[in-house]
Amino acid sequence: MSYICTYCNGMSALDRSCPKCGGRMSDGGRLEDYTGPYAPYGPIEAGTLTNGYSDWAGHSCIHQAYCSRCGYTDMLPLDEIRA
Ligand SMILES: [Zn+2]
Ligand SMILES: [Zn+2]
Repeated sequence: MSYICTYCNGMSALDRSCPKCGGRMSDGGRLEDYTGPYAPYGPIEAGTLTNGYSDWAGHSCIHQAYCSRCGYTDMLPLDEIRA
């Protein structure tokens, strides 16, 4: 059984408002994409992700969202659907 993220697959579009300035937040992609050797987010280490986000260990895809207006970033657990 597999689950897919509709956001990663272009089936859904992120539609969140920035809590800081009310601007529209853009989907920066899966958080996993940032855990490689070139990750700009130092504190997040590959391998610790599951532990750090055990609450989201279900079938969620963690996305990085960012506001291009004020630079605010957030992590959003997005539900995956059964494929
Ligand atoms: Zn995703
Ligand atoms: Zn903002």
